[in-house]
Amino acid sequence: MTRSSIPAAFLEYAQRNLPRYTSYPTAVAFHDQVGEADARSWAEAAEGPLSLYVHIPFCDQLCWYCGCNTTVPNGYGRIARYLETLHQEIDLWAAALGKPPRTAHLHFGGGSPNALSADDFEALVSHLRSAFGVEADAEVAVELDPRSLDRDFLAALARSGVNRASLGVQTFDPIVQAKINRIQPFDQIAEGVAGLRRAGVTGVNFDLIYGLPGQDEASMWRTAALAAELRPDRVSVFGYAHVPWFAKHQKMIRTEDLAGPHGRWSQAEAADAVLISAGYQRIGLDHYALPGDSLCQALLEGRLKRNFQGYTADAADTLIPLGVSAIGAFAQGFVQAARTTDAWAAAVQGGHLPIQRGVATSAEDRLRAAVIERLMCDLEVDVGALCRAFGYAESWLDPALAGLSALQADGLCHRQGRRVRVGADARRLVRVVAAAFDAALSTETVRHAQAV
Ligand code: SF4
Repeated sequence: MTRSSIPAAFLEYAQRNLPRYTSYPTAVAFHDQVGEADARSWAEAAEGPLSLYVHIPFCDQLCWYCGCNTTVPNGYGRIARYLETLHQEIDLWAAALGKPPRTAHLHFGGGSPNALSADDFEALVSHLRSAFGVEADAEVAVELDPRSLDRDFLAALARSGVNRASLGVQTFDPIVQAKINRIQPFDQIAEGVAGLRRAGVTGVNFDLIYGLPGQDEASMWRTAALAAELRPDRVSVFGYAHVPWFAKHQKMIRTEDLAGPHGRWSQAEAADAVLISAGYQRIGLDHYALPGDSLCQALLEGRLKRNFQGYTADAADTLIPLGVSAIGAFAQGFVQAARTTDAWAAAVQGGHLPIQRGVATSAEDRLRAAVIERLMCDLEVDVGALCRAFGYAESWLDPALAGLSALQADGLCHRQGRRVRVGADARRLVRVVAAAFDAALSTETVRHAQAV
């Protein structure tokens, strides 16, 4: 079972704090000079089908590792008030779009969307469907807490046409579960998966995490094996990012319980070995999918995308943000809603799109974003061809290419002319290679997670 520790040449890179590149420019570049007026003009000009992201910032209890914008509501009244405002926000955004919208992808994240009552969830989906013209074959995806997934909510998922669900599994190890304040036995997850399948949810995703307190290679191995037994269509394997100065409840996690870079690497390797031997295919940096899943097809056809939810086959260029702190994307830039519920609700109730910050993208940002996205998705990119496709000279990004020489020498990537390929063993370090094309790489590195 023993897996290799991190190769010596990779050690320093693995400890670098880098963005996850779910967007470029990254959220660190957002500022308050971008606001509602930009969001309105970008929304009015939006072309093509939309994608919607709906943030539900409530959970039954907090997991100590969590870095999400969520809270324990202490009674349903707070959720009901949030929903009332969310329904108003839906109408504001629908009115801001210049033409009758068409939506191909709807994603509920959080928090735990199943903190809502079954009736409220159904009413929310129904409103979204009518306000944004959600297509009959749209992907409707929901992040779920398996501990509170009951029969009523499963029935609401079925009636609402939800066809993809992500279960926060994280670890099956009871010792690790105790250390992260998230107790969920294997049988509970298995019942959740069976219930989702019965409800007609054809796509089931699992999120796993390595680098949690008390976790080691053997524990990760067992978790991945138990996960594979339940045959989710997709599995993501994220590294735990310990940033207690931002995510306050992470202070409950003892630093001495956390593995160092070698341990983190071997845990990620263990998950990789188990999932590959169980028939999963690698997708980008940290996802796995069964052959036949739409991510595998998108990867094969060179149209895999990366957005705030991770890897996706969703081709929409416009993402409408709904709910507190939600991030939206437009051809012209990114926007983010107010990050406190009070500020978000006050803006919406005053008839405003609740945008508090964002960033406008330049033509060069869009070129760099495309290079970074191809690297993150395909682990290779033809930089010269992308420069040409975006109307730049083939040599435009040669200074960034020159910056790869140390990475090449250490085996992180290979170059042939202006083609760059991430080294076979260096997939997990793709963010280090992508960072060479990040003109805005922040010195504020404490906000980012370690590369591995
Ligand atoms: S990990 Fe998920 S369930 Fe746990 S607190 Fe965060 S959002 Fe809630």
